[in-house]
Amino acid sequence: MRLVRLIAAAFAFAPVAAQAADVEPRLTIVAPDPSVRTVALTLDACSGATDHRVLDMLVAEAIPATVFVTHRWIRSNPAGLATLKAHPELFEIENHGENHVPAVTDVSQVFGLKTAGSLEAVRAEVAGGAAAVEAATGERPRWYRDATARYSPDAVAEIKAQGFAIAGYSLNADMGASLMAPTVARRVAAAKSGDVIIAHINQPGRAAGEGLAAGIRALKTAGARFMLLKDVETRLDDGPETTIAVRKAAPALPSAAPKKARTS
Ligand SMILES: [Zn+2]
Repeated sequence: MRLVRLIAAAFAFAPVAAQAADVEPRLTIVAPDPSVRTVALTLDACSGATDHRVLDMLVAEAIPATVFVTHRWIRSNPAGLATLKAHPELFEIENHGENHVPAVTDVSQVFGLKTAGSLEAVRAEVAGGAAAVEAATGERPRWYRDATARYSPDAVAEIKAQGFAIAGYSLNADMGASLMAPTVARRVAAAKSGDVIIAHINQPGRAAGEGLAAGIRALKTAGARFMLLKDVETRLDDGPETTIAVRKAAPALPSAAPKKARTS
């Protein structure tokens, strides 16, 4: 009994990240070409500004990336959005939510961010972000990544039910743009084939972006191939026992086409 109380006390003082039920799904590329190191670079534009050290380098080096934008970021970064849209061959624009709210219903805060708190709020956050992306790009997003990339299980089910694939990751390059440049560069350059890399493109004032640009360049120099999420088959491990394969997305079709053809 005393042991039980001790364990209970330990959990009471654990950070919210220790909430056992919440998941931080791992996403990888299924069966990448064995002859080439193949990665998917995914960049979050949470709110704030545009990191041109990263964006301009991607354009100059013709390196593709899937960019997750919030409605908030879209509103305050018209030039950054225009650059993304000017290079559809390089950039896939996906949904990072309306207001950068974690899709978590069972705790009130994650990493200092107030969570959605209810499925109704999750629905509004996802739908608001999707509508903003569609209005900005003319294309309905296929992927959703919430703020913090952490979800409560009911939110995972809800987001999938809305028809979105959940954009986990397998390599956290910058830990919320909090790491120093050499560390970020080293982590990115060490990517393994099949990795889905997560980093940030909205923090021009932080050192992490400089390291991100350097790491991506190093990967390219080393012969890595960069893929967009829409162009690969991926696998999502969204809990200790659940594994879900997301089928390779079909090429974009006119919006008049049946929805099934776009997602199967
Ligand atoms: Zn974010």
